Amino acid sequence: MCQNSLMGTALVTGANRGIGLALARHLAARGDRVIAVCRQASAELRAVAAQVEEGVDVTSEEALAALAGRLADSALDLLVLNAGIMRADDFDSVNLASVRTQLEVNAVGPLAVVLALRKSLRRGTKIAAITSRMGSIADNSSGGYYGYRMSKAALNAMAVSLAKDLGPAGIAVAVLHPGFVRTDLTGQQGALDPDEAARLLVERIDALTLESSGTFWHANGQILPW
Ligand code: NDP
Repeated sequence: MCQNSLMGTALVTGANRGIGLALARHLAARGDRVIAVCRQASAELRAVAAQVEEGVDVTSEEALAALAGRLADSALDLLVLNAGIMRADDFDSVNLASVRTQLEVNAVGPLAVVLALRKSLRRGTKIAAITSRMGSIADNSSGGYYGYRMSKAALNAMAVSLAKDLGPAGIAVAVLHPGFVRTDLTGQQGALDPDEAARLLVERIDALTLESSGTFWHANGQILPW
C-alpha cells in the first residue's frame, strides 16, 4: 500500500473515519507527517501515527481560527479538503434546510479551511478537494440529490478559482472524485474500500503539477467533465 514519494506534512479534514481515515493511514504509513483534523477522534484514528486535532467542525470559523493558531509553525505540503456529508433527496422530498447544510459543510467549509490555513501554505503546497462526480453538471443523467450535487458543484467552482489564484504562488489544486467507496456516507455500498480509494487519490495527488492544477479527476485517473 505504501509509495515512496514522501510529501512532508499533510493535513486531512474528516480524518476520523471513511476516506479521510484511510488517507491519514496511508500518508502516515509512507512516512508523511500527518495532521488529522476531525470533530472527534475515533479509536481507529488514535491508532494512526498522526497528530490528531480534534474539535474542528469545518463550519466553525472559531474552531478553524484556533486550529490555525495551533498550526502557526507548520508549513503544509498537502491540504486535503475531505470532510463532507451527503443527504439523499429528490424533487418531492428536497428540504431546503438540508440543502443549506450541505452547501455549508461541503462548499463553504472547505473554503473556510483554506482561508484559515492560508499562512501555512507555501510554494509547492498541494491542495486536494475531495469532490464527487455527482457535482458534475455534464455527468448528471439522473437528477435528484439537490443539496449534494449543488454543494459539490460549488466546491468544484471554488477549487478552480483557487487553482487560478494560487498558481502564481506555486500552489496546485486537484479536484478529485474518490470513486464509489464503501463508507458510512454510502451505507457501506460501493465498488472499492477506503484503503484502495486512498491509494488511488494519493497517486493522483503525487502526479499533480502546476500545469495540471484545476483539473477534475476520477481517482482512477480519468478526467471528468464539469
Ligand atoms: P464518511 O461519512 O465516512 O465520512 C465523512 C467525514 O466527514 C467524517 O470524518 C465526518 O466527521 C466528516 N464531517 C462531516 N461533517 C463535518 C463537519 N461539519 N465538520 C468536520 N467534519 C465533518 O464519508 P466518506 O469518507 O465517504 O466521504 C469523504 C469525502 O468523500 C466527502 O467529501 C464525500 O462527499 C466524498 N465522496 C465520497 C464518495 C463515496 O463513495 N464514499 C463518493 C464521492 C465523494 P464526523 O464523524 O464528525 O461526522
